[in-house]
Amino acid sequence: MSDRLPGFSTLAVHAGAQPDPTTGARATPIYQTTSFVFNDADHAASLFGLQAFGNIYTRIGNPTNAVLEERVAALEGGTAALAVASGHAAQVVVLQQLLQPGDEFIAARKLYGGSINQFTHAFKSFGWNVVWADSDDIASFERAITPRTKAIFIESIANPGGSITDIEAISTVARKAGVPLIVDNTLASPYLIRPIDHGADIVVHSLTKFLGGHGNSLGGIIVDAGTFDWSAGGKYPMLSEPRPEYHGIRLQETFGNFAFAIACRVLGLRDLGPALSPFNAFMILTGIETLPLRMQKHCDNAKAVAEFLAGHPAVASVSYAGLASDKYNRLARKYAPKGAGAVFTFSLKGGYDAGVSLVSKLQLFSHLANVGDTRSLVIHPASTTHSQLDDAAKVKSGAGPDVVRLSIGIEDKEDLIADLEQALGA
Ligand SMILES: *Cc1c(COP(=O)(O)O)cnc(C)c1O
Repeated sequence: MSDRLPGFSTLAVHAGAQPDPTTGARATPIYQTTSFVFNDADHAASLFGLQAFGNIYTRIGNPTNAVLEERVAALEGGTAALAVASGHAAQVVVLQQLLQPGDEFIAARKLYGGSINQFTHAFKSFGWNVVWADSDDIASFERAITPRTKAIFIESIANPGGSITDIEAISTVARKAGVPLIVDNTLASPYLIRPIDHGADIVVHSLTKFLGGHGNSLGGIIVDAGTFDWSAGGKYPMLSEPRPEYHGIRLQETFGNFAFAIACRVLGLRDLGPALSPFNAFMILTGIETLPLRMQKHCDNAKAVAEFLAGHPAVASVSYAGLASDKYNRLARKYAPKGAGAVFTFSLKGGYDAGVSLVSKLQLFSHLANVGDTRSLVIHPASTTHSQLDDAAKVKSGAGPDVVRLSIGIEDKEDLIADLEQALGA
C-alpha cells in the first residue's frame, strides 16, 4: 500500500469494509441476527461494562451497521458514527444527550417540515424548548442564546428552497456560547459539503435521502466530529458525570474524542431503541458506493432544470443557489462548489391553483413526499409537508402557497425539461 490518503470516491466504496473473515464474501454481508455468542463469562461482563468493544445485541450494535457507521464517519471526516432507524431518530438521540428538561436549543427556521413538527410539538413533551432563529441573520442566533441554551441546529442546504447556510458564521456563535453546532447534512451529503470542515461538532443525516439514494430504505446517522469539550462548564452531565448505568464511568473521560458517539449508542440507542435494521444498512451501504456519481448527476440535472424554469414565462421565480442570479449563489460557490444540490423550489405566476395543476399534469416526476431518490420528485409543500404551519410561517420557511418543490433525479435532463414544458404549457 502507498501512504496516499484515499480520496472521497475510494472511501465511498471501501471505508469500513473488509472481505468477510469467515467466508471471504466481498460485499458486506447482512448480519441478520439479533444477538451474538459471548466467548465466556468474563467476555460478556467486559462487553456489558464497556471495558471491551464487541457485539451484544443488534439494538446496540451490529456488524453490518458498523461498516455503514465507519464509512459515513470517514466520508464526513468525523471520529465515529452511530446508525439509527431514521433521520428523525438521529435527531432525538442527539438531543437526548444534550438537553435536560427545561433546557433550550436554537434551530434555524428553514428546516425540513418534519423537523419543525418534531421540535415544536414532540420535543415539548420532553421539556426541550426550541427557539427559532433566521439563518440569513446571524445575529438572530446570538440574540437567542440564554444560560439554558445547549445546542444550535441548522441544515447545510436548507429545506425546502435549497438555500445555503453560512455554517462557519454560525459555528463562531456556537463556539462563543460554548454549545455544540449540529448540522443536518441530508440535502448536501458529504460529497457536496463536509460541515465538520466548517466548524460543525455533530452531523446528522436522514440516510433515507441521497446517501441511500434509491428511495427504498429508511435510516439515519449521527457523526461525532470529536471537537467538543463536554466537560467544560458542567453543562452536559450525560457526558461528563458518572453514569449509574455503567458502574459510574464518565463517558468523556473514558472515550475522549468519540465520547459523544458512545453516549448516543449506550445511553440513547440502547434505552430509546430506534435501531437500524441490518438489511437497511446493507441497502444504504450499496447506495453510498455510487454517491459521488449520483450526486454530481443530480446537481448537473438540477442546474439545467432550474435554468429552464427561470426562462419560462409561467414561472414567477426560481430559488436555486446554483443560479448565478440567486441570493445564495455566493455561499454556494464557497460551501458547495461541485453543485448546489438537487432540491429546490420555484413559484408560479398562477399561484396555488397553478401549483396544484402542474403537479397533476407531470408524468415523469412522481408526486410524493420524499427527496434524494434516483427518480425526479415533485410536491406542493403548502398543502403537504408544511401544511401544519400557519400562512405567515409557511412564507417564512419558504413554502408559500404558490411554491412547488422539486427533487431532481438522475434521468436524462432533456426528458425532465420536456415533462415540465408539457405540464407548464398545457
Ligand atoms: C427526511 C429528512 C429528515 C427526516 O428523516 P427520516 O429518515 O424521514 O426520519 C430530516 N432532515 C431532512 C433534511 C430530511 O430531508
